[in-house]
Amino acid sequence: MKKYPPLGILAMQGDIQEHQKILWDLGIETIWVKKPEDLKKVEGLFLPGGESSTMLRLLSFTGLDIAINERCQKKDFPMFATCAGTILLARDVIPDQRSLSLLDIKIQRNAYGRQVESFEVPLQIDGLDELFTGIFIRAPKIIELYGEIEILSTYRESPVFIRQDKIWGLTFHPEISQDTRIHKKFLEYWD
Ligand code: GLN
Repeated sequence: MKKYPPLGILAMQGDIQEHQKILWDLGIETIWVKKPEDLKKVEGLFLPGGESSTMLRLLSFTGLDIAINERCQKKDFPMFATCAGTILLARDVIPDQRSLSLLDIKIQRNAYGRQVESFEVPLQIDGLDELFTGIFIRAPKIIELYGEIEILSTYRESPVFIRQDKIWGLTFHPEISQDTRIHKKFLEYWD
């Protein structure tokens, strides 16, 4: 089996274990990133879904917000963000919320309503032959793209999976669907 470099999961809050499990199923051990020193040990980072406002508070408390920004300056640090993770990386957030500003997008939190309005839809995704079940939970909506951004999937004309340099931003949760295909694609950076 191929040996991958150490990969991290941002472990402030949210569905950390779900990403860990899906990567474990792919034969990958992950490091929980809780402080700036942990970030130095990893070659890529998963940012889970959860509650972006809570994660933000913990990011600034630990100094990881600055550390992630510094690590990304060279644009060769792969990151895979889902839902709240994508909100953390967006340049602009509505309603206004601080962010790491690493993805040139504007994103609106809870754009589809509350928890009860969570839904699943089959999505067509660039690079995958078969449809992928997108699970949306209090999902945000990407409402503007500013820079050179690839759109890999859309739902009702809104992008739900985008990529800028090596940063992937999804508004749904592949870590919950038990389908490893998108995580597997991301690992191709180290093939
Ligand atoms: N609504 C959450 C937020 O604004 C994101 C929801 C999720 O990650 N499933 O942070």
